[in-house]
Amino acid sequence: MLPRDYPDSPPTVQETGGRIPPNFHQYGDRTLCLGAPVEVWRRFKADPRLVTFVETLVVEYLYGYAYFEKHGEMPFGELSHGANGIREYYQDLFNTDDVQIVLSLLKLMADGTYRGHHVCPCGSGKILRRCHGASMLDLLKQQSKERFIRDATNVLYSLKESEMKDFDWSLLPKALKKELDEMAREQAKREKCA
Ligand SMILES: [Zn+2]
Repeated sequence: MLPRDYPDSPPTVQETGGRIPPNFHQYGDRTLCLGAPVEVWRRFKADPRLVTFVETLVVEYLYGYAYFEKHGEMPFGELSHGANGIREYYQDLFNTDDVQIVLSLLKLMADGTYRGHHVCPCGSGKILRRCHGASMLDLLKQQSKERFIRDATNVLYSLKESEMKDFDWSLLPKALKKELDEMAREQAKREKCA
């Protein structure tokens, strides 16, 4: 299906033959989950023609399913769904297991505060331009601040209880932090009244 704003947004795909079971990488509306949304966008933006979209993302998905059916596992290593998939995508891209580093880099993109000459928050001591900056600049071309905020929200949802224990809330994008603070205030108000 083509979105109204195609080619600004990528098409969505549904398999209508009933061959692929609903629990295999699909969203709630049965459209196929072709990969982490940010990665689908990145590859779609690189060449938004329908033929390329089908030949790369859709064919890879179908190949993945055929392989899975035969061998019981995914050929490329499986990105899990939803929040975890987005977290894994950024951890792979930024080459780190540390979710705090992922969030601090996402924050720069979501807040619009990327500056090449600032020190990279990954702890390398290098400036951004000589460190994680290259992959960030590439991403900044692909999607809007709002989408980085949404991705950071997903990464937040992927955190395990142990990671929440001494979580540094200042790592979150400003807009998200504000929203969560408001929710907490509302919650406190309700609890006070009751
Ligand atoms: Zn870095």
